[in-house]
Amino acid sequence: MKRWWYYFLLIVMSTTCKQGKTVQQGGIAISFDDRFVKQWYQLRPLLKRYNVKCTFYITQPDSLSDEEVKMLHQLQKEGHEIGCHGAMHVRSMYYIWDFSLDEYMKNEIFSALRTMKKQGFNPKTFAHPGGSQTWYSDRELLKYFTLLRDVSMKTRTIWDYDFTHEIEDIDEIYYQHDNTQKVNALLIDTSAKLAIADIKKGLNRASKEGSVLMLFGHKPLTKNTKKMDGYGFDVQFLEQILLESAKLNLKTYTMQELTNPL
Ligand SMILES: [Zn+2]
Repeated sequence: MKRWWYYFLLIVMSTTCKQGKTVQQGGIAISFDDRFVKQWYQLRPLLKRYNVKCTFYITQPDSLSDEEVKMLHQLQKEGHEIGCHGAMHVRSMYYIWDFSLDEYMKNEIFSALRTMKKQGFNPKTFAHPGGSQTWYSDRELLKYFTLLRDVSMKTRTIWDYDFTHEIEDIDEIYYQHDNTQKVNALLIDTSAKLAIADIKKGLNRASKEGSVLMLFGHKPLTKNTKKMDGYGFDVQFLEQILLESAKLNLKTYTMQELTNPL
């Protein structure tokens, strides 16, 4: 009988200890928007080097060349996600205001999904163009997507006033494994004027609390292209982010994997 109690206590103690270790491995989820397919394709060696899986959100898929469709299939084959970013790249709130929710779903969403399915893709997550959304359009979108991604910025300008937040204080850019289907990613384009010190703070928070830091950008910029186009992120900056993330042993997620971990 005594022996029975001894084993019982051992089981209780081991369960309690396991429950104590509730902090998960921290992570990072990076996505890229629009249709800079050829430039994204050039990122493959860098992504491979750091074993990073990303999400590519495609807009106006009907304008992709056969070569670009092939490149996206290759990216998908290598573990990256191909998501939907709308057929027209309209700001949903204004479009619905001018037309209707039905027109928005028909022209922006179903049209994009139809084209992408014909191209052999099956997008499961959606990124809002221009970070514009309403609760009633989101409710409709969640019938077709498992996750909706919006936009977050370190500094937002409202009526000529700049509101700046520290990266570790912007709660909305950390996925807490709580199955929420509406998330925000921090813009890393050069226009956001982020320093690697900012990102390090975010990575540290994700590591400490076991959350996933969500980041996104547009066009990859190198020394040759940087001066010509500000609508993108510095590839060297991305590499710094990946390096710091690797130092903390953060796991990388595609956006779909956030709500559907493998
Ligand atoms: Zn976009």
